[in-house]
Amino acid sequence: MSQSEPTPEVYEQDRGMDAHNQAMREIRAEKDASYDPHEPTRVWLDEDNTPDGVVQSLTIILNTGGCRWARAGGCTMCGYVAESVEGGSVTHDALMDQIEVCLDHERDQADEPAEQVKIYTSGSFLDEREVSAESRRAIASEFADRDRLVVESLPDFVDADKLRDFTDRGIATDVAVGLETATDRVRHDCVNKYFDFADFETACETARTVDADPDTAAAGVKAYLLMKPPFLSEREALEDMVSSIRRCGAVDGCHTVSMNPCNVQRYTMVDELHFQGGYRPPWLWSVAAALERTTDTDAIVVSDPVGHGSDRGAHNCGECDDRVQKAIKDFDLRQDPSVFQQVSCACERTWELVCAEGASYSQPLVD
Ligand code: SF4
Ligand SMILES: [Zn+2]
Repeated sequence: MSQSEPTPEVYEQDRGMDAHNQAMREIRAEKDASYDPHEPTRVWLDEDNTPDGVVQSLTIILNTGGCRWARAGGCTMCGYVAESVEGGSVTHDALMDQIEVCLDHERDQADEPAEQVKIYTSGSFLDEREVSAESRRAIASEFADRDRLVVESLPDFVDADKLRDFTDRGIATDVAVGLETATDRVRHDCVNKYFDFADFETACETARTVDADPDTAAAGVKAYLLMKPPFLSEREALEDMVSSIRRCGAVDGCHTVSMNPCNVQRYTMVDELHFQGGYRPPWLWSVAAALERTTDTDAIVVSDPVGHGSDRGAHNCGECDDRVQKAIKDFDLRQDPSVFQQVSCACERTWELVCAEGASYSQPLVD
């Protein structure tokens, strides 16, 4: 069956995903809130490192009804389904109202329009069941004055004609793909995400065909990776991240890798594991080490640890978290690994011990 139909009824069968999805549906059923389809989920302004340098960026999380995969059970760490509209679809007019709210916010907060706009949907902006062709084209025309647009999508919805809706208007366009890891086994078994690295490579190839067209603006892919999915030890997670960054950087068309340290979101399997002492978010030292070890990669590599320093986000000992986070943010903008030599803390020894001795299987406490 097609990968674009991740329905629980058909897709899970015989793939060993039934148990994961069943568990995820039960956890998610505990959440019962509804959201206004005329309001975006979130909107904010910040800076971002792009192939054209560091630019002002308007980041929008559109409320499009949420991810179909999440409805089927979804990824072990993802709580976004809890934020989507009840009933599952948002009309064109409501989506355009959301864009208007975002533009109002930008006019309130900044003197000039941001060079870059990033649109996440907690799903796939390029899935026409989520954002219709009419809405996609209206949004492209709304942002035709911007230099660069980033839209989130699973790889199977990446299509040259859809990208041309933006690049034909002169907007450099990147697809943000939540690849999570380059290792299929980890993506399937630890994250419960259904596509393969080969699908990501195909999406990059599609963006390259658009990019090669001299009549359009540039097109590319940003890979989003998940640092420390559940069921991996700290060392396994770090090694998997380093090799994933390298493999993504080696794919033509993928110019940026964004590493997201896993944080513990409500109503997820990771939340249940965390509650029972079976999951700790990654150390900030691991995030720094992954960045430091991959500076030779042919891609921009960045990370923005959400909820850093807290029990539910990437954290160290509590004393050094802010300093290490600041070094990571510095690295994001300058790509200079020497920023990490300027931070140290006694807890680095603890982290080294965790990496050396921690195991992902149920290790016996006594021989
Ligand atoms: S991580 Fe993405 S694909 Fe997975 S459930 Fe969340 S929104 Fe859906
Ligand atoms: Zn420390």
